[in-house]
Amino acid sequence: MGNQNSLYASVRDWSIRTAVNMALSKIRCPKCGFPVVISLAIRWKNNGTISPIFIDKHVRIVMLHTGVYDKLFSQIEDWLGISIEHILFEAQRNISIALFDSFGRRLPGVSLFKKIPIWKRLIVEGFNKVAILSGMSYSATLEYEPGKYGLARLKNPYNIDLMAANIVGAFEFLEMVPFKHQITDEGGNNYLVEVHAAKEKPEISERLNVEKPVRISGKVPYEKCTLCRAPLIAASRLKWIEEEGKIIDTNSGSRVIMMDGFLLKTVFRELAKELGDEVTKLLVPAQRDWTVEHVELLGNAPGESALEGDEFEKAFKDYLKDLPVFGYGNPVSFVSSGSKVKVTIENPFDENVLAGTLQGLYEIFSKRECNVSWDVRRKAEVIYSLEPA
Ligand SMILES: [Zn+2]
Repeated sequence: MGNQNSLYASVRDWSIRTAVNMALSKIRCPKCGFPVVISLAIRWKNNGTISPIFIDKHVRIVMLHTGVYDKLFSQIEDWLGISIEHILFEAQRNISIALFDSFGRRLPGVSLFKKIPIWKRLIVEGFNKVAILSGMSYSATLEYEPGKYGLARLKNPYNIDLMAANIVGAFEFLEMVPFKHQITDEGGNNYLVEVHAAKEKPEISERLNVEKPVRISGKVPYEKCTLCRAPLIAASRLKWIEEEGKIIDTNSGSRVIMMDGFLLKTVFRELAKELGDEVTKLLVPAQRDWTVEHVELLGNAPGESALEGDEFEKAFKDYLKDLPVFGYGNPVSFVSSGSKVKVTIENPFDENVLAGTLQGLYEIFSKRECNVSWDVRRKAEVIYSLEPA
């Protein structure tokens, strides 16, 4: 025990460890400037998807502008006139458990760590790191009693409820019992999140299990850094601000979060059970509206007159080329004939969301409303057709 105690003392001071962690996470690639810890932790695949290293290869990450999140969830809540907060919370709690679990299975040492209280503290420290580097929030542990209780302060969470779900899921993975939480708003975008071991979790949580999608191989067109393998577009555009827990896309000034690619499917599968399959189609206009806003934020919206011919095609393709960098999938072909456009996307992270993206691009550049339809081939190759409404 003597060893354990001295080791415990050496890792006890959260603030010192946080400072050390922060210094490590600020190391940048000397060639492209990308955060080294990110390029070591995740991989941009050649098929338009992003995956974490050390985790089940089916796990997928998307880099979402927070505007996408707001449109897809808040706007759909408004349209439906109901709150889907509890479904989002339970889905994110289960996804958090599934992600940490798949990490634990790939690295057998993690299951050993989970049995030793002092090492558990290091895992808790790892949870903060994930929150900060994924741009979801700045997070620091204030108190932790293994097996029972944890208290963290969060600054700038992109969504405090989903962050709480991530924390509850992380603790359930670590302690292997259900947890419950309480949020205290301290003002100024600071929150305290307290988690306690609980007897059970809500029944709905059991239904929101995570399904992993099929992916096909491919070849993305963007260039990667020869040293750290990060896409050069990501290195030049995305700025990690660790002390703030934020990632900013400097092209538009919008905040970006790295999150799992499962949340939408899991939440909408549950909503469809209650409201019918049509509810999933709401993702299309929600994403269309965000895309129009995004093109405007980027300063790429045409003035008074519509783009035509080559100009239209160039503007459309310029936006599409960034999609694989954000893990949305890989656009492999663009064919236009008259006012009709066909776009093929491999591995779209969500078929409806990509349909909305294409519809938004068509409408903002051509200044005409359009209909979008699609066919799925080879499970993960989707051919979208757009034509004036
Ligand atoms: Zn690099």
